Formats: sequence, C-alpha cells, structure tokens
Amino acid sequence: MNDTHVKSLSILPLGRLKLEQSVLTYREGVGLPVEVPVTGAFVEMSDGEHILFDTGISPCVLEGQSHLPERLKNLIASFDPEDDIRYRLNQLGYKPEDVAIVVNSHLHWDHSGANHLFPDARFVMQDREVRFASRPDPFVQRVYVSNQYESIKTLDVLQGDQILKPGVALMTTPGHTPGHQSMLVRLPSGRVMILTGDAVFCPANFDPAVPPGNAHTPAEAVLTIQRIKMLGEFLDAGIVICHDPGLWEAWKPCPYKYT
Ligand SMILES: [Zn+2]
Repeated sequence: MNDTHVKSLSILPLGRLKLEQSVLTYREGVGLPVEVPVTGAFVEMSDGEHILFDTGISPCVLEGQSHLPERLKNLIASFDPEDDIRYRLNQLGYKPEDVAIVVNSHLHWDHSGANHLFPDARFVMQDREVRFASRPDPFVQRVYVSNQYESIKTLDVLQGDQILKPGVALMTTPGHTPGHQSMLVRLPSGRVMILTGDAVFCPANFDPAVPPGNAHTPAEAVLTIQRIKMLGEFLDAGIVICHDPGLWEAWKPCPYKYT
C-alpha cells in the first residue's frame, strides 16, 4: 500500500504587479489601476518529493541585472528581498534543492521567472503550453520570455489531466493560455484546495462567468472558469487565485502551513 500523502500546503507571496482592472475583468475597468499579488505554492509531501507550483517573477530583478524587457519590468509594483522564492522556501525550512517537482501553470514571465533556481527538479507542463510557448501568437508574444524555460534539463510533458502524486492532481484549464493547467491538492484534513494559476484572476470572474481581459481565448476561459466554480462548490474546495487583489484577506501567506 502506498501511504504517500500531502503533509501541508503553503501559499508563497512572490511580489506584486500593477495592472489595470480590465486585465482582471474583460472590458470592465479600462484605465483603472489595480495592484495584484504574484503567488506560488509549496506542497510538502510525506515521501520528501516536495512540489512547487509556479516560480513567480525572476529574483534577478533585485540585482538590477534582469533579462526582462522594460515593458515587463514596468509592470512590477514591488519585489522585495522577501519575495525571492529562496527566502520563502527558507521560511518553511527548505532550500531550492528540496524541491523535487516544479509545476508551471503556464509559461508567462511572472510564473516561470525563477525556474533556473531549480536545475535538478523535474518540471511538469502541459504539451499544449510547451508547444505554444515555443512559437506564441504574435499578440501575446511579449509575455513569454523564452530563456526562462528553454534550458530545463528534465521536463515531463503532459497531455491532459493527470494525478501527479497521491493527493495532488493537475487539471487542464485553457483559455488564459492554450496549455494552462491548475493544481488540486488534498490536505491531510480532507479538504481540497484548487490552485487556479491565471485561469481565474479575481472572484468577480465567477458570477456570472466573466473572462479575464488578457485571456488568449476568452470563450474557452469562460468554460474553464465555470468548471473551476462547479468543482469548488461540488467539492467544497478552497480556491486560491494567484493574482486576486484580495488574496491575502482570504488566505494566510507562508510560513503558515495549511494541513
Ligand atoms: Zn499569465
């Protein structure tokens, strides 16, 4: 019998972005500035094969030697030394070497920025995202920074939904990008947590289903949002929305461990 299970889930603050409201809610709030968090998540596993969900903004911005183009740097509202993913892992008692698996929800610059800090991890991405990121449609090309994900040594490419480890599942949630995926985590308490990534941007996307303004395919994003909403209600799950402006009112940041 395999008794591998999730020990805890922690939500990691990884900086803040300045966007406009219409990025969160399709065509609503054009020109209205809004500040949003960037977040990742760490899943502590009983077998020591710990999992990281998204790596956030590249900590290279701290040293002023970022490879990021100016137009992306200008979106960063704040990135403090504490927002470095190494600092967040340290708060939990871990080092980058302790991360066995890195899941990228998708390959946008603010979700794969610190991928290079995990050279020995196994990366897990959706096939559609890997293929799309190698040649993005021109209108979304600027948010893909290819040197953040081109030199990965060990890459598992998934085709669709899959159980990653006992208590951890990956679910395709296309719309924001063609190959976006979200992660489901079953806590020791039995509660399911859904880490949406960018499939949802704020609770206002749910009722009625309104896509984020920057969705690659808004109609597909709406179907994804409805699926997440249904699953959330059906499973009585906690829904952790990566860029939700109200995220830290809803959930506690690391070093808190949800169990
Ligand atoms: Zn994104």
